[in-house]
Amino acid sequence: MTETVDAPTATRIPHWIGGRRVDGGSGRSGPVYNPATGRQSGAVDFASVEEVDAAVQAARAAFPAWRATSLAKRAELFFRIRELLHARREELAEVLTREHGKVLSDALGEVTRGLEVVEHCCGIPTLLKGEHSEQASTGIDVYSIRQPLGVVAGITPFNFPAMVPMWMWAPAIACGNCFVLKPSEKDPSPSLWVAELLAEAGLPEGVFNVVMGDRVAVDALLEHPDVAAISFVGSTPVARAVYEKATASGKRCQALGGAKNHMIVLPDADVDAAADAAVSAGYGSAGERCMAVSVVVAVGDVAQPLVDAIRERIPKVKVGDGMDPSSEMGPLVTREHRDRVASYVENAPGEGATVVVDGREGVPDEGFFLNPSLLDDVTPEMKAYVDEIFGPVLGVTRVATYEEAVQLVNESPYGNGVAIFTRDGGAARQFQFDVQAGMVGINVPIPVPVAYYSFGGWKSSLFGDLHVYGPEAIGFYTRGKVVTSRWPDPATSKIDLGFPQTR
Ligand code: NAD
Repeated sequence: MTETVDAPTATRIPHWIGGRRVDGGSGRSGPVYNPATGRQSGAVDFASVEEVDAAVQAARAAFPAWRATSLAKRAELFFRIRELLHARREELAEVLTREHGKVLSDALGEVTRGLEVVEHCCGIPTLLKGEHSEQASTGIDVYSIRQPLGVVAGITPFNFPAMVPMWMWAPAIACGNCFVLKPSEKDPSPSLWVAELLAEAGLPEGVFNVVMGDRVAVDALLEHPDVAAISFVGSTPVARAVYEKATASGKRCQALGGAKNHMIVLPDADVDAAADAAVSAGYGSAGERCMAVSVVVAVGDVAQPLVDAIRERIPKVKVGDGMDPSSEMGPLVTREHRDRVASYVENAPGEGATVVVDGREGVPDEGFFLNPSLLDDVTPEMKAYVDEIFGPVLGVTRVATYEEAVQLVNESPYGNGVAIFTRDGGAARQFQFDVQAGMVGINVPIPVPVAYYSFGGWKSSLFGDLHVYGPEAIGFYTRGKVVTSRWPDPATSKIDLGFPQTR
C-alpha cells in the first residue's frame, strides 16, 4: 500500500477568524489525506500563539453585543442554522467522508445526530429559564438567572469532525458565549464548512472562530487569560493533560477521553440479534468511535454460538471507498493509525488469543484500509484487551458468570459506554444498578444519549464534572446568579445592622 504526497496541488485549509478565512502566517502546516486513496488532498495551516490570540480577541470583541442579543433573536438564528444545515447535510457529509474516510451513510448519521443538538438549542429561551420565588421574605423576591462565561474554546478529535464540534459550539453560542474551535488537524475541512454556513445564517462576525493546528494552538488556548472555559474531546492522556492545564490556569474544563466499551451477552440473549449488534457496533466507522464496542463479554455457553454467528457475518461487510454508496465500512484515518491497529492482530497469537478472522488479508492496494478482525479467547492482561485499539478489531472474552462480566467492566479504567444483551428484565435492571459507566445500553449496543440528555463517561473517560450537550451543557456554559430584590415603600425604610433574616 503506497501513499502519494501531492502537496503542490493540495487545497490550503486556513483559519476562520472574525467572520472570514484567514491564511496562516506561521509557516507551519500539516498534510490532510483522502484515506480511501492514500493521497494528500489538503494542507492545513497550523496556528501560532499570535493567531490564536487574534481569534480570541475577535471572540472577545463580539461578546458584548452577542450576550445582549435577545433570546428571541438567538432562537430565530438557531432555527435558520438548523434549516440550512438540514438542507445541506449531504454536502457536509461528503466533505467529512473525503477527509475522515467513514462511509457516506455513516457521515450523514453523524451530521444528523449533531443536528439534533442544534435543534435542542433552538429552545434556548426555555433552556435558560431561571427560578423565581415571590415573597421569599416579606416584600422580598428571589430569582436566579444564568449568564454566559465570555470566550469559550473547544478542542475536538478526528473521529467525529462535524458532530463533536456541534456538541460544543451550539450550546455555547446559544447561551450567549463566543466560541473558538480547534478541530483535529487530520480532518479540518468540516469546521471551515460549518463556519461559512453559520455566517450565511447570519451569525455575527467573531461569535464563531476556527483556529487550525496542533499542540501549539491547544496550549495557547489553555494558557490564554481571556478564555474562560475549555471543552475537550479526544484520547485519555491528552484529556487528562488538558484538564490539568486548563484548571491550573483557573478555567472551567470538561475533558472527555478514550474508551474501551464492553458488550455483555448473557446466556439467554438472542444470539442473532447480539451478533448483528456486535458487528454493527464493532466495525461501524471502522471501529473509530468512542462508543464502539471493542470487547464482547460472552457469559457461559453463549460464547461459541456467538463467535460463530459473528464470524459468519464478517465476510458480508462491504469494505470500500466511503464515497461509494454501497460501502458499509471505509478506511482508517491515516496510514500510521491503520498500521498501529493491524499490529494488535499481528501480536494477538503471541499473547495467547485466537485470531478467528484476520482483517489484514485481502485489503486493497490503495488507501488506509483494514478489513474487520475477530479475536477470541482475549483475556484482561492482553494488550488487545487493555488498549483502546480504535479500529475494526473486535475481541471476545469468555467468562462463566454475570458477576465476572460486571467485574471486568468495573475494573476497566474507562467508563464511557457499556451494553448488555439479555431477555431477562431483572438482570438488565440489576446491571444498570451495578455497572460503572456513564452510558448504558440494554439491548442497544451504542447508547449515545439523545440531545435532551447529556453525554459523558465515568473514570478515565471524562475529567471534569459536567457532561456535554443537553442540560449539563447549559450548566457548563453559564454562571448562575441569584438576585434578592425589594421594592420598598419609602415610608417603611429604616436602618437595621443585624444579619438579614427572613421574616
Ligand atoms: P487526540 O487526543 O489525538 O486529539 C484530540 C485533539 O487534541 C485534536 O484536536 C488534537 O490536535 C489535539 N492534541 C493531540 N495531541 C495533543 C497534545 N499532546 N497536546 C495538546 N493537544 C493535542 O484524539 P484523536 O486521535 O483525534 O481522537 C480519538 C480519541 O478520541 C479516542 O481516544 C476516542 O475514544 C476519543 N473520543 C472520545 C469521545 C468521548 O466522547 N469520550 C468522543 C470521540 C472521541
